[in-house]
Amino acid sequence: MSTDPTRMSAHELGAAIRSGELSSAAVTEAHLDRIAEVDGNVNAFLHVDRDAAMEQARAVDTRLAAGEDLGPLAGVPIAHKDLFTTTDMPTTAASRILEGWQPPYDATVSQRLRDAGLVILGKTNMDEFAMGSSTENSAYGVSRNPWDLSRVPGGSSGGSSAAVSAFEAPLATGTDTGGSIRQPAAVCGLVGAKPTYGGSSRYGVIAFASSLDTPGPFGRTVLDTALLHEAFSGHDPRDSTSIDAPVPPVVDAATRADVAGMRIGVVTELDGEGYQPGVMQRFRESVALLESLGATVVNVSCPSFETALSAYYLIAPSECSSNLARFDAMRYGLRVADDGDHGTEDVMSLTRAEGFGPEVKRRIMLGTYALSSGYYDAYYGSAQQVRTLIKRDFEAAFGDVDVLVSPTTPTTAFPLGERAEDPMAMYLADLCTIPTNLAGNAALSVPCGLAPEDGLPVGLQVMAPALADDRTYRVGAAVEAALGQNNGGALLTRDAVAV
Ligand code: GLN
Repeated sequence: MSTDPTRMSAHELGAAIRSGELSSAAVTEAHLDRIAEVDGNVNAFLHVDRDAAMEQARAVDTRLAAGEDLGPLAGVPIAHKDLFTTTDMPTTAASRILEGWQPPYDATVSQRLRDAGLVILGKTNMDEFAMGSSTENSAYGVSRNPWDLSRVPGGSSGGSSAAVSAFEAPLATGTDTGGSIRQPAAVCGLVGAKPTYGGSSRYGVIAFASSLDTPGPFGRTVLDTALLHEAFSGHDPRDSTSIDAPVPPVVDAATRADVAGMRIGVVTELDGEGYQPGVMQRFRESVALLESLGATVVNVSCPSFETALSAYYLIAPSECSSNLARFDAMRYGLRVADDGDHGTEDVMSLTRAEGFGPEVKRRIMLGTYALSSGYYDAYYGSAQQVRTLIKRDFEAAFGDVDVLVSPTTPTTAFPLGERAEDPMAMYLADLCTIPTNLAGNAALSVPCGLAPEDGLPVGLQVMAPALADDRTYRVGAAVEAALGQNNGGALLTRDAVAV
């Protein structure tokens, strides 16, 4: 075990803090120093509050010294995607329209993690309102991939993935509407989970597409990710779509790492053409590995997945056009042309014209069009029908197998700027992750090696039925353990990290 707190896992840090071997103050300070050292290059953070973080850490140390039991992550630092409201820090969704906005309440996720004694280091960069796959749509500059600073860290939760990958934070939160946790986790060599829809609370998470948005965890190990997942999940009466059921036993599953006797399906529609050869190579090796560990592997066809991307790009923009109507220059953040010479409507439209970036405007226009009378049935209506077909394909598949697997992304991290002007190329980054969002079930991405052609991380996606999130962790932990033994843990020690 390393003695540098920034190189330790969240699980190790939590244990060391509980036993009194390390203080939360020392651990927090080490991470703040790391941020000061590397974030000029990485730009993972939009907001860091050193004094507030140290104050939280000392308060946790005092409570622990008084004998309070705050759980396994007490005193461990965390970074929050800037989509989660926090009472003590601004929340901008990386948009100009919310510049400097200070929320009056905490998101349930922020609140629960505070209660569990986690220390908030700061808020992380993202694509504006979580629309994008590279973090290049942020109004506050791009984040960079710590493995190669000329490449994207994925998106939309790219600040969170960059921060954890660069050892600036052991844990981070994200949200996954179409892939925004799994895709950045995959391209930064991390574990990232999209919980079952309704398994984690959306209360206080700035809404993009409410029927898809799912808060979830990032970590460098499967166990760390499971510990965070468990710490913030569970029923929340303040979210009307929250599920009133026990949290799946993800931590227990993460410690079992055993796939013997499991049936694993390879989705034939997410396996092949247009994928980077090195990604496919590592994916096929992972499937062979799972088979060697005692799982039965079969091919499963889910034909509706071919139309998932098109359906998503009607449903998500439709919901976004409705959700973003609240940014009307009256209630939050930016207000321009408020000079007495302009009417209310002018103030609203000028504020929206200046406050929203190009991708957000594109989505609002697409969504408004798809929902407009005369086009509603043809666009939004058909997309909802496709959604039902995707659910049915998942149901049929899970009648036969315990989990489905695919590559998480078709390629490794792409160069900054490569897809920025080509929305279609950008949208393709989520080809493999979107079906799970449309169906609402659980999925996880776990590192499965480096692509031979560029030395960059590849992610294996594991998908499970709703409320069977624990299965994704079980498979993830088995892959992690087997690869750790096979390559001396090279992936986890990140010797290749560029910062
Ligand atoms: N990249 C997808 C999009 O732009 C997914 C985003 C997300 O999951 N928040 O919509």
